[in-house]
Amino acid sequence: LLRNAGEVEFHQATREVFESLGRVVLRHPQYADASILQRICEPERQIIFRVPWIDDSNRVQINRGFRVEFNSALGPYKGGLRFHPSVTLGTVKFLGFEQIFKNALTGMPIGGGKGGSDFDPKGKSELEIMRFCQSFMTELYRHIGEYTDVPAGDIGVGGREIGYLFGQYKRITNRYESGVLTGKGVGWGGSRARTEATGYGAVFFTEQMLATRGESFDGARVLVSGSGNVAIYAIEKVHQLGGVVVACSDSAGVVYDKDGLDLDLLREVKENQRGRLSDYAALRGSASEYRAGGNIWSLAAETRIDVALPCATQNELHEEDARVLAANGVRAVAEGANMPCTPDAVRVFTEASVLFAPGKAANAGGVATSALEMQQNASRDSWTFEHTEERLAEIMRGIHESCATTAEEYGEPGNYVLGANISGFTRVADAMLAQGVI
Ligand code: NDP
Repeated sequence: LLRNAGEVEFHQATREVFESLGRVVLRHPQYADASILQRICEPERQIIFRVPWIDDSNRVQINRGFRVEFNSALGPYKGGLRFHPSVTLGTVKFLGFEQIFKNALTGMPIGGGKGGSDFDPKGKSELEIMRFCQSFMTELYRHIGEYTDVPAGDIGVGGREIGYLFGQYKRITNRYESGVLTGKGVGWGGSRARTEATGYGAVFFTEQMLATRGESFDGARVLVSGSGNVAIYAIEKVHQLGGVVVACSDSAGVVYDKDGLDLDLLREVKENQRGRLSDYAALRGSASEYRAGGNIWSLAAETRIDVALPCATQNELHEEDARVLAANGVRAVAEGANMPCTPDAVRVFTEASVLFAPGKAANAGGVATSALEMQQNASRDSWTFEHTEERLAEIMRGIHESCATTAEEYGEPGNYVLGANISGFTRVADAMLAQGVI
């Protein structure tokens, strides 16, 4: 506790995983003998650095940059960069810890890492964003590489930021090393379907869970929190599968369109205009209701909701929200975001037999497709959208299968939290055992 003092989210994430592992260690004492549990929650390396940059008023600004290289048992460190004012070392460590098991679940050869900065991209000009990204990479470049550590995007880091980061890496190193970052533009080494992958993957996983009870998205009414990269493509896939997403959110409010969101308009506002949901609601007119500061989950008490997909940020769905969802007949909840449901909320879902998919399983489609991007870069190839999406769907089916089988093996069929934690852990732990005390 002292070693990680004040890192509340990191404590939450480790506790959640360790709660599943008691029975694993009883069955496999070799993990305890080799202190795998103690080793796995200590990052292999943590880098913290100063990021100085000059704003549009010619003032020097200072932010803090992080990269936590958590575990390389299965491959080079892999995980996104988050730019958000709330980012601390504890945030990056919680995300990096989750990433270890998520990446293992994909079955791809990638270790776990995460990074970011407390830089706030909101309200910054295009040039300020570029100068910040260039300064951030001017330090980060010495720690990353195709065979060591491969960052990607996360909150506040999308295609634009990856472009500036890649440009600076190339400039400093004089190497066109495509495999050093993922989430690149399709025209310069990026993978088709990467932008869509996390949201699509979460919906594919939910589809598999629903199928275990003979249900599907066809005709389902769905809530998706957030309105960023993950949320937008979760909405798109739900609509393609015959469901209707009736609400989404941002940190300022909720839009509720009782007959379904207008995805084309949402994308135009969010992706092209970089606007807010209040702008969407204004353009959509009477078909949309905007609730400033509203709680998206409370809509389940007003209208029929079948599926909830939290896709914004950590700890955004609380025990009370879970009670409202469960009491009003929600059948499945899948975490598109990382750790969006508090531990108490997860307990409510489990006790109410609501199908529940933890983020490390449900949102693994993004990093899996990043690994597919690395494959394409390594072979100097570029796959079609259809082929890449089919690979993604196959990987998500595989993750569902391994979580379900493991939960059953350990006596709790349908417990995807247990299945994901144990299945991810054993793959990493076995590799760590094989590689000795390092
Ligand atoms: P984006 O930055 O594209 O979007 C984030 C969305 O969440 C925005 O709508 C934002 O609203 C909202 N949000 C962020 N912080 C808060 C907050 N404190 N309270 C309420 N709303 C908030 O990020 P992504 O869509 O990429 O990421 C969303 C989640 O998915 C994160 O947990 C991320 O770690 C996870 N994830 C992302 C992957 C990816 O491939 N992108 C892969 C796996 C997981 P606002 O604009 O108002 O801040």
